[in-house]
Amino acid sequence: MTFSLHQLVTSRLSRLRQCILYLLLMAILALGLNSPGMVVTMSGQEKGRLAPDALAGLVVALDPGHGGYDGGARARDSGIWEKVLTLQIARQVEEALLAHGARVVLTRTEDVALGEKGATNRLRKRRDLQARLDIALEANATVLLSIHLNEYRSRQESGPQVFYQYGGEDGRLLAGVLQAALLDELDPPKRRVAMAGNYYVLRSRIPSALVECGFLSNAREEALLVSQEYQKRIGIALAKGLADYVDLLARQGRTPRDAFGEVDEDAP
Ligand SMILES: [Zn+2]
Repeated sequence: MTFSLHQLVTSRLSRLRQCILYLLLMAILALGLNSPGMVVTMSGQEKGRLAPDALAGLVVALDPGHGGYDGGARARDSGIWEKVLTLQIARQVEEALLAHGARVVLTRTEDVALGEKGATNRLRKRRDLQARLDIALEANATVLLSIHLNEYRSRQESGPQVFYQYGGEDGRLLAGVLQAALLDELDPPKRRVAMAGNYYVLRSRIPSALVECGFLSNAREEALLVSQEYQKRIGIALAKGLADYVDLLARQGRTPRDAFGEVDEDAP
């Protein structure tokens, strides 16, 4: 076999071209993997992966706080009522929970108060909260989450915060993992901790938590809370937190159905 000079030159050239192409490809790959954006996305996806059945066995009662005559807090800049946002957020949470195998029951799906008119506002509010609890109990819920938004005189206060009923051990466990998940997913500047409180809607044997998603009195946080994108992230955070809750119980040899405890109804 003989090669002409021409053949020799072109075959060397094409090998050189192959080499250059290969090196270029490697350089592009290396650049891509080293760019911070790429790394964040990849680890974020890795961290964020939740099995489609991670919440199987959970029956979650989602309670969008307030409604009807009871608007709750009002956003300072947009004027949006808390009752509107709690329902929007609850819908996003519902979607995230359903996507991972939980059953969900909402205490309200419209702008209504649940208690019929009582003799006093206090009694009416009581009946409203009891009606929400009754829905959760009738649904045989294994977890109850009441969704709210906070406000404060000072516009500086911000950050999500989860509350549980005094004396509720599983509520404390639940609130702790939900708080951690919210901090992890939303990365708020102010990192609050879960706290005990005394709330009528948490006073049942169902492990319960009241989720204050953020402060409507804080301009920066209000802008986030009214956006669907941030509301979706709250949903994802709570789904992850509930998956952690199921994991924690499993490590104790329990299921969400076993975790029914006593709470202190006469807490301060
Ligand atoms: Zn509220």
